[in-house]
Amino acid sequence: MNGESQGAVRYKLPFSRADLGEEEMAAVLDVLKNRVLALGPQTEEFERRVASYVGARHGVAVSSGTAALHLCVAAAHVGEGDEVITTPFSFVASANCLLYERARPVFVDIDPVSLNLDPARIESAIRPSTRAILVVHIFGQPADMDAILDIARRRRLLVLEDACEAIGAEYHGRRVGTFGRAGTFAFFPNKQMTSGEGGMIVTDDDNWARLFRSLRNQGRDAGDGWLQHSRLGYNYRMTEMSAALGRVQISRIEELLSRRNRVASWYSNRLKELDGLTLPQALPETRLTWFVYLVRLDAHFSRDRIRAHLEAAGIPTRDYFAPIHLQRFYRKQFGYEPGDFPITEKIAASTLALPFHGGMVEGEVELVCQTLRAAIQRG
Ligand SMILES: *Cc1c(COP(=O)(O)O)cnc(C)c1O
Repeated sequence: MNGESQGAVRYKLPFSRADLGEEEMAAVLDVLKNRVLALGPQTEEFERRVASYVGARHGVAVSSGTAALHLCVAAAHVGEGDEVITTPFSFVASANCLLYERARPVFVDIDPVSLNLDPARIESAIRPSTRAILVVHIFGQPADMDAILDIARRRRLLVLEDACEAIGAEYHGRRVGTFGRAGTFAFFPNKQMTSGEGGMIVTDDDNWARLFRSLRNQGRDAGDGWLQHSRLGYNYRMTEMSAALGRVQISRIEELLSRRNRVASWYSNRLKELDGLTLPQALPETRLTWFVYLVRLDAHFSRDRIRAHLEAAGIPTRDYFAPIHLQRFYRKQFGYEPGDFPITEKIAASTLALPFHGGMVEGEVELVCQTLRAAIQRG
């Protein structure tokens, strides 16, 4: 996939790939022909479509999922001296957004089945300085929102949702991103849908939506002139080329999700016979949308050897995720050590993400599965 050196290895297939058609190409080309490259109608239309798809009042497009998260934290006035409860088993951006505003992430270990924040562990982590819970729906699997919202209501905490890996996912029939005060989506090319780079904040809060529009646009308020800045802002705008791409992708979202679903079932049907693997599965009363196809290896396997075997055979893999608390700068700043979040660490050591995207053909899945089977037999 883009963004990562492939070294000397020649892969037989990509780890992930954007699922694009002629309509996306035509839409981007139209923007270029029309010369409105920023702050235009594509962005507004993309925002309307995402908001309507997930069931939120407002959508605010930004330059990345990370920017979306940062603006949520800024809007919440979470800062120096404040603590926010979140998961260590995620992409680093879901905790970094707190550091941007000098707030302290307080990690809570995960549920070993959903791989999301374990609600039973949240309350003992709440202190007087706790302001919010930042929920991540990891790998497209919704977190246990009933339990989390109940704690948040009782303890008067704000809820923010990182749904960057979970567009279209549902919890008790409701789409993720709409449970907290605000939710974020990301559209990097490896996500369920893409705008190249890009992100979106959804919220029902009119004031927050206004604030997000100002913050992403150098702090300009709706009535401000080009050189008038009512507050400290950022340039987190989305380009019209990205918005045009995203607009087409969101209108195809159910098709994109079902193509990923089909690939996931090709994998599951082939791998279910293999001993020592835990396959991904949607939890009851949730709709999982496939971000990656990630298996877990029983402890007696050497993941490194299995990965090396697959690499040598031209099959790229990833070991999602390296626990956030063990990243060097988190250890240095907060004193985290191996062993602090044992469930996260145990699971992180067992995961193997296989090549996965909606355009995969059955023969490619078969090749990956055959190679994995051989790798496992060798231990
Ligand atoms: C991808 C991702 C992000 C960040 O999105 P970018 O668009 O890459 O900035 C944040 N959180 C999670 C859980 C993600 O997977």
